[in-house]
Amino acid sequence: MNKISKILILLAPLLLFAPPAKAYQDHGVEKVRFHSYLTYTRVVLEVSGEVSYIIRDLTNPPRLLINLYPAKLTSLERKIDIRDRFVQRLRLSQDSEHVTRVVLDLMNSEYTYDIFSLKSPHRLVIEVKSPREDPIADLLKPREFPYSSSESVSEENLRVYKVILDPGHGGEDPGAIGSTGLKEKEVSLAVALEVANLLKDEAGIDVYLTRTDDRFIPLDQRTEMANQWGGDLFVSIHANAAFNRKASGIETFFNSRYLYGEGAAEVAARENAPLGDDDVSGEVKAILWDLMQDRYRDESNELSHFVQRKLYQATYLEDRGVKSAGFYVLRGAAMPAILVEIGFISNPWEEQKLRKEEFRKKIALGIFRGIKDYLESYNERLSR
Ligand SMILES: [Zn+2]
Repeated sequence: MNKISKILILLAPLLLFAPPAKAYQDHGVEKVRFHSYLTYTRVVLEVSGEVSYIIRDLTNPPRLLINLYPAKLTSLERKIDIRDRFVQRLRLSQDSEHVTRVVLDLMNSEYTYDIFSLKSPHRLVIEVKSPREDPIADLLKPREFPYSSSESVSEENLRVYKVILDPGHGGEDPGAIGSTGLKEKEVSLAVALEVANLLKDEAGIDVYLTRTDDRFIPLDQRTEMANQWGGDLFVSIHANAAFNRKASGIETFFNSRYLYGEGAAEVAARENAPLGDDDVSGEVKAILWDLMQDRYRDESNELSHFVQRKLYQATYLEDRGVKSAGFYVLRGAAMPAILVEIGFISNPWEEQKLRKEEFRKKIALGIFRGIKDYLESYNERLSR
């Protein structure tokens, strides 16, 4: 909690219980809006003039109480269900003659918040977010992800999700090469094109590819393209390689500054190699990129699990699970982003499978179903 709200809380009893010294000109609370984003919920209270406020956070159950004064309730709904990641519902009441009370019933006690007022029109904005967000991340402008709001609930079904597919490697960068010469760049492109083929027939999904032919695209440009397109999901497709030719199976990664999962460091090192040491334009950029993707870490993790599960069910290759590591290609994505390793090209048996069109189609179907299921579950969580 910030200092100002602590001071306000200390002052609260005085302000609340001291009778007004002069006649107040009450301002009407005229409109309530909310927006559900992936990493925070924003509630906007529109008022007819400048009001002061006191905010308190209460426990059991967790809720935020905001008293506005001098303020009067107009004919607004007194209870608004929000039911997103952070806020359960919003309640409005006239606490006393000049005090309007707003209560935000929260989903859980792990949260932090910001409150600030804006002018023309006068409004009070409350943002409830996860305490795990790095404060520095607030410096980076959040991109607005699929949202529901009190104004656009009816349009929610019309929301089109932009899925960005990123076939790994290409051009002068072949990626991993199998013992019979199969190149990772070739398999990743074939599978990505097939996933795109499946996605383009889905209502409510637009699909974009970072490359559709055999060309080199630097790692940082891939997420830059995705951000420019306003992507909602970023899926980078790769084939694995290991010194041990027996290593086999599928695994899905999301970006994290912390390594998680066996062999995650090796995969990250290999996939980051095309960037080359000369291309890393300073630690600061790398840190900012990490923070950018940190905002979406929970959703990236979620997406990873959907894709990994469906990929396994489609291929029955060894399930190596969901892992995390620092991937340059995912870092700068302002959206949930994952990297899928669709089998080991260094494993002769899997290399042969990866050559076959029929098997590539199975892989594509798995990735496609994972993406679709994730988006469905995301929509469900929004409308719960
Ligand atoms: Zn790769």
